[in-house]
Amino acid sequence: MKPPPFTYHAPVHLDDAVRLLAQAGGSGKVLAGGQSLVPLLNMRLAAPAHIIDINALPGLDTVRVDPGGVRVGALVRHSVLEGHAAAVSAIPLLRQGLRLVAHPVIRNRGTTVGSIAHADPSAEMPAVLALLGGEVEARGPAGVRTVAAADFFTGPMETALAADEIAVAVRFPRPAPGTGTAFAEVARRQGDYAVCGVAAAVTLDADQRISAARACYISVAPVPLVVDLTEAVAGRAPGNLDTADAEALAADRIRPEDDIHATASYRAHLARVLTERALRDAGRAALNSLDPDSHPTAIRSER
Ligand SMILES: Cc1cc2nc3c(=O)[nH]c(=O)nc-3n(C[C@H](O)[C@H](O)[C@H](O)COP(=O)(O)OP(=O)(O)OC[C@H]3O[C@@H](n4cnc5c(N)ncnc54)[C@H](O)[C@@H]3O)c2cc1C
Repeated sequence: MKPPPFTYHAPVHLDDAVRLLAQAGGSGKVLAGGQSLVPLLNMRLAAPAHIIDINALPGLDTVRVDPGGVRVGALVRHSVLEGHAAAVSAIPLLRQGLRLVAHPVIRNRGTTVGSIAHADPSAEMPAVLALLGGEVEARGPAGVRTVAAADFFTGPMETALAADEIAVAVRFPRPAPGTGTAFAEVARRQGDYAVCGVAAAVTLDADQRISAARACYISVAPVPLVVDLTEAVAGRAPGNLDTADAEALAADRIRPEDDIHATASYRAHLARVLTERALRDAGRAALNSLDPDSHPTAIRSER
């Protein structure tokens, strides 16, 4: 298939890119890694009149790690972030999610910010941003504004970005000390989108008891769905954790639907199973973060 006709722009200044997008008046699309947009064009599921390619813009390809977290520029490829030792050491959930995104070839071109802007409810990195409570830096004609992840995802492939805004970076906050994370998912084949996936974060107190637990669910709601599971597991030890109450809490919140890949009831079943796996693995990782010598590292992510 060939894409419908469009006018291609390759600005070299961010101001020009924003101006072009504003001039397109809703008929423009940003092109980053092209791993989602180009298939949509070729299948004629999208027909923008203007494509604004941001790949020549300077300064958007950097990863910055500071005490507060990790800032990822709009042109940072998934594979670059996955291999960024300081970033994945500060926030292991970045690598736990990234290694489940498609195949290495797609991760070499696709950008993490592009994935978040695309807002596929089956995608891993929007869930990572939502679970950690991160934010998106959006640049439009009026300047830069910051949008919290909780407000950013508004529907399937819909975000709070205005038609004339470019997401220039996302910021992932560093989890609290004593926090462990995990990402568990099931996909029909390796490299495919998850039928269901769960990212979890478990925080332990000084007595190594759970003080907080959260999970973010993909492919079972219109947006990445964060559920606070603290009340279901608080005060418990993370080893051999009984997750039945947490599973019930999550089951009450998710809204899976039937589609050609899976029934709603199968997705609901997976959500429970993956809640158990992700919480237990995150709990073990939390123990490990407190005392790396006495607990085996446990990071398991399954397709
Ligand atoms: C075969 C295949 C399998 C895949 N499997 C997975 C998977 O398992 N999990 C997963 O998460 N993803 C998967 N992907 C998608 C991949 O992660 C993409 O890289 C990602 O979704 C989009 O990133 P991109 O940089 O390629 O964006 P593009 O394709 O360039 O853009 C995607 C959309 O986001 C917009 N956009 C991009 N960047 C910006 C920006 N900075 N500001 C504003 N808007 C922007 C574009 O206008 C477009 O609408 C898969 C892709 C393919 C082809």
